[in-house]
Amino acid sequence: MLLVYLKGVGPKRAELLQKELGMNTYGQLLNHYPFRYIDRTRFYKISELTPELPLVQVVGKILSKETIGEKHKKRIVAKFADETGIMDLVWFQSLKWVEENVLRGSTYIAFGKPNWFNNSFSISHPDLEAYPRKQGVTGNLTLQPIYHTTEKMKKSFLDSKGLQKLIQNIIELHINEVKETLPLYILEKYKLISKKEALIQIHFPANTQMLQHAERRLKFEELFFIQLQLLHNKQLRSLKFKGAPFNTVGDKVNTFYNKMLPFALTNAQKRVIKEIRIDTQRGSQMNRLVQGDVGSGKTVVALMSMLLANDNGHQACMMAPTEILARQHFQSLVDLLKGELVNVAILTGNTSKKQRILLHQQLENGEIDILVGTHALIEDKVKFKNLGLVVIDEQHRFGVEQRAKLWRKNVIPPHILVMTATPIPRTLAMTLYGDLDVSVIDELPVGRIPIETKHLFEGQRLRMFGFMKQEIAKGRQVYVVYPLIKESETLDLLHLEAGIEQLSHEFPLPNYQISIVHGQMPNTDKQYEMQRFIEGKTQIMVATTVIEVGVNVPNASVMIIENAERFGLSQLHQLRGRVGRGAEQSFCILMSGNKLSANSKLRLETMVKTNNGFEISEIDLQLRGPGDITGTQQSGVLELKMANLAKDQIILQEARNTVIQLFEQDPTLSNPENILLKNYLDKKNRGITFDKIS
Ligand code: ADP
Ligand code: MG
Repeated sequence: MLLVYLKGVGPKRAELLQKELGMNTYGQLLNHYPFRYIDRTRFYKISELTPELPLVQVVGKILSKETIGEKHKKRIVAKFADETGIMDLVWFQSLKWVEENVLRGSTYIAFGKPNWFNNSFSISHPDLEAYPRKQGVTGNLTLQPIYHTTEKMKKSFLDSKGLQKLIQNIIELHINEVKETLPLYILEKYKLISKKEALIQIHFPANTQMLQHAERRLKFEELFFIQLQLLHNKQLRSLKFKGAPFNTVGDKVNTFYNKMLPFALTNAQKRVIKEIRIDTQRGSQMNRLVQGDVGSGKTVVALMSMLLANDNGHQACMMAPTEILARQHFQSLVDLLKGELVNVAILTGNTSKKQRILLHQQLENGEIDILVGTHALIEDKVKFKNLGLVVIDEQHRFGVEQRAKLWRKNVIPPHILVMTATPIPRTLAMTLYGDLDVSVIDELPVGRIPIETKHLFEGQRLRMFGFMKQEIAKGRQVYVVYPLIKESETLDLLHLEAGIEQLSHEFPLPNYQISIVHGQMPNTDKQYEMQRFIEGKTQIMVATTVIEVGVNVPNASVMIIENAERFGLSQLHQLRGRVGRGAEQSFCILMSGNKLSANSKLRLETMVKTNNGFEISEIDLQLRGPGDITGTQQSGVLELKMANLAKDQIILQEARNTVIQLFEQDPTLSNPENILLKNYLDKKNRGITFDKIS
């Protein structure tokens, strides 16, 4: 039903609701939930008031009422008293109404913000209610809903109160038209209240308990339908895309594992490899995300998966976001394989034309088993004989589009293994990547010396320089990272320059060499400076955050982060991950100003306290909320109305489990009790073919 027909709306307000909140229908207004509630069960005595209190309600009697002032200063002041004291109620507008309706000698509930002025409390334009309260149709109002509105709406009396009235009208007149969206058996299993009851209680809670029931029901529903869609997509994909079954663990995997692997796999690595193994045997396409902190050993997991592809007569490729990373991966693979066993090649934007022609040939005739590279891999010219597996490292930089392009490189789309070193909290992973399978390498290889992290204040800078010199004297290398944030770019660059000047003064040539890398430099210069550091020709690398994710300089053992209070937690953790890659004890020093906000302090303390990326990501989620965390374009998924991924982990897990079970028991949703869900998906996906979903 259109809002224009609702009692109390009319054409003008209908237009306003449309313009300001984008609402046209009863349903939309009904879904405009309060963002908070005021406890109207709590009454304050006048003697209990303090100026800091937000909105309060006081029961009292009007002792007197007088009009004072002239013209625009004209106002009515009433003396309002309870047994503990006297305060003022003040009106500047609607004086005539107040004159006629606020009666001396009557008792009211006055509601509003208490102000302290001239040694007494007052409330301006209080809400007045007769005392004792009347019983309303929507129950006795105990928690008053407060709604978001806009200035324009307020001018047409669509303030929070106004909206409350309209929503009350919908509920009183039309609530029985609301249809249940979840099957009864799910409501029963999770003890959820009905949709109808939830809507009534979310707007007009009978008490706090009922409000909690309403919230739980609406959160569950919201998360449930997201999971339903995600897991439905996953199911469609696995039906549509056959994957090459990797049935054999053959010579290549075995030889590598038994004869070449220089260390024992961690249990986490073994588990993930097993998950991949099971997944690639099924005959449908694998889409798996592997999360593992920096240094958890993802490369070898990737390699063993690629060898598995090779053992089954398929080629594999591995894609990295930058040239430097692609080269490092290539080198790691060649090292691990000692140049034997399979044929590994590299293709990047810098590969010469002549080499390219050769590569293309070797790919097409199957001579190359594993190809490592950058975006250059997804160009249409690059054709494989029989591509069976694609590994994508640091996936945040690859869009869905690019992934899809890779799938077209074979008649049967290759299995996809996405690797990320940015640990994502579980709830986010379930939502953002809910249509992928997720593996977690949550264990570092044994014997790794944990990075020692210290927080120093500006006043301790000399100590920091002393420490740098000491480490450089031992032959180590040092990163010094400065923030460079778009909004304050000019200022940041000044800081960077001042920092470099101070460093060159403390660390003079020829004993010390400094590399400098920042975003404003041409790419070739960056590469050159980077290379000098990688080769150990410079001891200090001063950089802004452009410093590459995943770059591996094992000899660099000190990470100094300037203005550390300005970085987010996950960024700090990523930066710290640049060190701790060699055999030496590594250090991370967080430099900050003396004045820290509570939030910055907690971030720095967290860094000092733990090296565990998953733990850090959970704290980050609590501090920042889900919206900011991922930096992915997919954050649309995260615009949740009710649920909060930082807080509602249990409900999310329940919702997801419910959907998983649902598809296990009734994959096509043809069971009559699931008809609501089938209809939901049909409606949502109307006109969307399998092609579009993929
Ligand atoms: P990341 O997960 O950051 O990509 P890498 O795969 O680069 O980590 O591994 C980091 C280092 O740890 C490499 O030098 C690698 O050879 C080593 N490594 C990997 N797995 C193990 C293991 N199980 N035991 C010991 N060292 C390992
Ligand atoms: Mg890596």
